[in-house]
Amino acid sequence: MQKRVILKKGKEESLLRFHPWIFSGAIASIEGSPEEGDVVDVYTHEGKWIAVGHIQVGSIAVRVLSFKQEAIDERFWLKRLTVAYELRRSLGLTDRKDHNIFRLVHGEGDNLPGLVIDIYGHTAVMQAHSVGMHMDRMAIAKALQKVMGSAITGIYYKSETTLPFKADVDRGNGYIAGGPSDDTPLEYGMKMPVDWISGQKTGLFIDQRENRALLEKYSKDRSVLNMFCYTGGFSLAALRGGAKLVHSVDSSARAIELTAGGVEDNFPGDTRHAAFAEDAFKYLDRMDPVYDLIILDPPAFAKHKDALKHALIGYRRLNQKAMEKILPGGIMFTFSCSQVVTKDQFRMAVFTAAAQAGRSVKILYQLHQPADHPVNIFHPEGEYLKGLVLQVE
Ligand code: SAH
Repeated sequence: MQKRVILKKGKEESLLRFHPWIFSGAIASIEGSPEEGDVVDVYTHEGKWIAVGHIQVGSIAVRVLSFKQEAIDERFWLKRLTVAYELRRSLGLTDRKDHNIFRLVHGEGDNLPGLVIDIYGHTAVMQAHSVGMHMDRMAIAKALQKVMGSAITGIYYKSETTLPFKADVDRGNGYIAGGPSDDTPLEYGMKMPVDWISGQKTGLFIDQRENRALLEKYSKDRSVLNMFCYTGGFSLAALRGGAKLVHSVDSSARAIELTAGGVEDNFPGDTRHAAFAEDAFKYLDRMDPVYDLIILDPPAFAKHKDALKHALIGYRRLNQKAMEKILPGGIMFTFSCSQVVTKDQFRMAVFTAAAQAGRSVKILYQLHQPADHPVNIFHPEGEYLKGLVLQVE
């Protein structure tokens, strides 16, 4: 029997606008006993076919793969991955000698909900956020090898922490094709410390690439604090941009180790840099007012809607502390990567911080995620990274 999901009356409305999620509350019945991760056809209450997608236990019950009646087979993955690769190629990210890091697949943004693929030199790091993508990982890997050819020699699968925590699947991390390569991941000429095996996410926050490039331009002769540095990408940019001093702070000792390693690789013996494993709020409280360029790139303060209020207070407090201590004329690069916090809410939190710190603040730039993290226009939730560049008088 065909595995299918029948919607409640009228619940096809968001699908008619090509939104790729079906919530469990919209479903009237499920036929054919699909298992979690199976491909299912979706029908309206009136029996009209409307979409095909992966079914999952949870509030997002179906992630739509296509609004066209087509088989979800190797040809399908090949087609979608080719479109994704062509976009990155047209963005100039695939054929540079001094640059070999980019996001090839950004979930819904590439019409592949639940799938992330990042490229580091000859290695692809693949991450499934849905059980369906997990089940289809080998077919996707095969298609990926066809699309990228000799440009990749290994596919590392890393979904241990991203798959739904209750899903009953074998979730080991490891190479599912080829093996490790010894090339150096490069971001616009900078050697990046990337540890996809034990690092956070796929090993690097690729999404800050263009914002790091912008920071480089503002770093000359400045004293820089890179708060929440992780692998130190902003610190490397500031050092190359001619900063007077750069201090990197992160609560994770491993992050500090990676940052220090990256600085040593790119700027051996450079005494302008120091790194500290410390809590951000404590550091901001105890630090002297010596910085005139501060980066605040915290982890997502709100992972769910229920945490929104607390998250907004967190952003306000963090920004206020930095604004109270930044030198006059200083510049702040401040970010939120919480999907549930809107651009306006984040801006309001920063506005309140400025008012409470009693500083006059100008917005110089409004930042976002880069083009290889595209936002599907029908899925505005995909716009998660928000940033403001501020001048604090
Ligand atoms: N700016 C980084 C990415 C930051 S990710 C880049 O460009 O790569 C967020 C970082 O915040 C993580 O490395 C995490 O270890 C760190 N972190 C989380 N809570 C923290 C806290 N309370 N104080 C300091 N660092 C913290």
